[in-house]
Formats: sequence, structure tokens, C-alpha cells
Amino acid sequence: MTFPADNVAERATTCFRNTYGQPPAGRWAAPGRVNLIGEHTDYNDGFVLPFALPLRTVVAAAPQPTGNWTVRSELTGETVTFGTDDVSRPGRVTGWAAYVAGVVWALREAGLGVPGARLAVASDVPLGAGLSSSAALEAAVLTALVDLGGLELSTDKQPRLAQRAENQYVGAPTGIMDQSAVIRCRTGHALFLDCRTGQVEHIPFDLGSAGLAVLVIDSRAPHRHADGEYAGRRASCEKAAALLGVTALRDLPATGLDDTLTRLPDSEIRRRVRHVVTENQRVLDTVALLNAGQARRIGPLLTASHASMRDDFAITVPEVDTAVDAALAAGALGARMTGGGFGGCVLALVEADRSDRVGAAVAAAYTDRAFAAPSFFTATPSPGVTRID
Ligand code: ADP
Ligand code: MG
Repeated sequence: MTFPADNVAERATTCFRNTYGQPPAGRWAAPGRVNLIGEHTDYNDGFVLPFALPLRTVVAAAPQPTGNWTVRSELTGETVTFGTDDVSRPGRVTGWAAYVAGVVWALREAGLGVPGARLAVASDVPLGAGLSSSAALEAAVLTALVDLGGLELSTDKQPRLAQRAENQYVGAPTGIMDQSAVIRCRTGHALFLDCRTGQVEHIPFDLGSAGLAVLVIDSRAPHRHADGEYAGRRASCEKAAALLGVTALRDLPATGLDDTLTRLPDSEIRRRVRHVVTENQRVLDTVALLNAGQARRIGPLLTASHASMRDDFAITVPEVDTAVDAALAAGALGARMTGGGFGGCVLALVEADRSDRVGAAVAAAYTDRAFAAPSFFTATPSPGVTRID
């Protein structure tokens, strides 16, 4: 499926014309993503199950004969130009344009001759909300450059390359989920990703025909110490794996978990391990239900995931707990925080005709607690990165 040339695509074209005084040679669109289930499992070599959002980042592009790269973002209103010296090593282009320069750098590191290009970016993916605007930007730029240059780079190699751009050029430590999701997801499907092997499976998740919807709620919670807490959770997991003599927590089976946990020194590390092991199992259980056409029955797994993040992994905050509780009380089939934690978004699986009611209940609960008003949208599993025209 291709994306319709709708508003955000038109905005990318307008941005391109206004900046360069000519029409683009093509437009490429990459979605944001949301993770249905499987949180903090990625760096434990485990399983995740993201799907692509209808919200997209569109890059309009054309070759630039000088061999330099120029990029304009509609959002920041800035235009940045860089040349081959700037992409010879990380660190020379900073700020938002580093995501673009990083992709050029990673392509060149892979031995590919990247053509100079003019680029203009427009996006509907909110920035920094945990919906992966960064991977959307990388993927749209990556496919634009691959197509403009006629480069040989198969789809299955693209996620690692975009991840390198973000890890090494931008300097943001992320796993492989975001880039895999925005590049490889398919309409009406979630992407079952094994973070150890990089292998993917497309799992049917056709909400519309099941009469269901996924409501995504931006909790608007300020990210409190998220980076330090994330590093701490990672360190706990690595320590536990070493103590238990496994390569990664993914290697621990869910059966017999209580016995395994007795080999750990304190209750905090036991709870951390319990989250990761049970969460991996919940991903597998969710995949089994979806493969059996039982989407309605995954609700309890989503809610159990939230309880595990709240009680065992200790990564939720009052705003997201409030949103989950209010959604469930208003009839959601299941609800959980999605993303790394300490804020970000909540997703709720709802009967399609109840979506508004659940949203209103969450908004009312926020008003009661004097939290900043949340925002909402409905997410349908959408295609990964694609060329529009
Ligand atoms: P998330 O991926 O959850 O949205 P990140 O912090 O990983 O959050 O990435 C957000 C960053 O990506 C922004 O701060 C900005 O530097 C860059 N970015 C994403 N989309 C755009 C855009 N359309 N224009 C400019 N920069 C963007
Ligand atoms: Mg990101």
C-alpha cells in the first residue's frame, strides 16, 4: 500500500519549493510507531511487538549537483547545509540535522556513494513523545537517499544502518526496535521482532474488522530523570544476567521463574528480572492470540504488562497510572504505558465505538488531579516507510 498524498506530504512539497525554488524529484514517508507490548525487553535480547502509526514524517528531496546536503525542517524553520568533511566522522553536525547527517555518515560507512541532495522535512509525528519521530526522520531520509542514488541496500539491512546513525552520529543510545518498526511494519499488522536475531514476523492486527481501536494518550508527563533511570534498569538487568550465568535475561524461561529468582541477592533485582521474563512471555502470548484471530482477548495481557512496569520495574509515573486506571474504569479492554517510561504515551485497546468515552474519562481524571490536559489519537496499524511519488 502507498500513502495518499495528503496534508503532510503537501506541506513537505511547499517547504521544498519555498526553500529551493523548484519542485522535489520525489517524496518519501515514514511513520511513527507505538509498541503494543514488550517493554524494556529489547536490550535484554528479547521480544517486542510495535506497529506503525498513521502519523508520518515526509521528506521531499532532489539531487544537489554540488555534492553537499541541505536540509530544511518545516518544524524548526532552519536550513542546514553540510558537506563530505562534516560526515567524515560523528560530531560535526549537531542538533536536529544530526539525524540527517548521521544517515549520510552511516551510508558512507557502509561503503555506499551517497548523492548530494536537497531535502525538506514535514511531520505529523510529535517530537519526543516516545512515538519515534527520530526513527521516522532517519527512515524517510534513508530511503530518499537510497532511491535518489540508486543504492544497493536491502530493506532488512536498513534498520541497523539507521540505528547506527542515531547511536553513533547523534549519540543517542537506542535499541533496534524503532528503526525496525518504521522501516518494516505493514498495514494491518504488528511487527514481532526478535531483538537478538533481528528477525521479524508480520502478525495480523486488523483492528477495524474486529471492531476495535487503539487509543493513544500522550500523558504529557514531564520526563523525570528518564535517562539515568533507564541506564540504571539496564545495569540491573546486565548484573542479573551475569549472576544467573546467562547471556541475557531473554534466556530465562518463564516456567520455574520463582526458583530462578531465589538465586538473586535482593528483592529489587528479583522484581526487575521478573518484569523482563514475564514481559517476554506476554509478547509471545499476545502473538499467539493475534495469530489465532483473538485480538479482543489481548486486553488482560496489556493491563498485566502495565502492572509489571508499575510494580516490578518501577518505571511508571502518576500521570500514566491515572490514564491507565481511568481507561480501564471506562471500559477499555486493556491499557498500558508504552515506551521507556517516566512519562510518554499510554495505549488503550477499546471497542471502536467506545473510544470517545474512554478518552473523555481519561481527560476527566486528569482534571481531577490537576495534571496538564492529555492529548489523544486513534492508531491504526499502518505501512512502514514508502515512496509516495
Ligand atoms: P522521539 O523519537 O520519541 O520522538 P527523540 O528524542 O528520540 O524522541 O527524537 C526527537 C528528535 O528528533 C527531535 O528533538 C529532533 O532533533 C529530531 N526530529 C524528529 N523529527 C523532526 C522534524 N520533523 N524536524 C526536525 N527534527 C526532528
Ligand atoms: Mg527516538
